[in-house]
Amino acid sequence: MVELKAITFIDRDGELYYRCPRCGMVFRKSRDYIRHVNKAHGWLFRGGRPKGKRALKKLGKE
Ligand SMILES: [Zn+2]
Repeated sequence: MVELKAITFIDRDGELYYRCPRCGMVFRKSRDYIRHVNKAHGWLFRGGRPKGKRALKKLGKE
């Protein structure tokens, strides 16, 4: 499974942060970041389609 690569950066306190390259959300733990990617962008890696009929219908309209 391909995962979205986080943009990592260190703030002035020396804390490492992970930023989502797709939506810009910032996380302090890699685990939180990975969970976010799977939840919010996970469908990108599962055949390129969102889960559920409702989401497919919405896409079909546009
Ligand atoms: Zn994101």
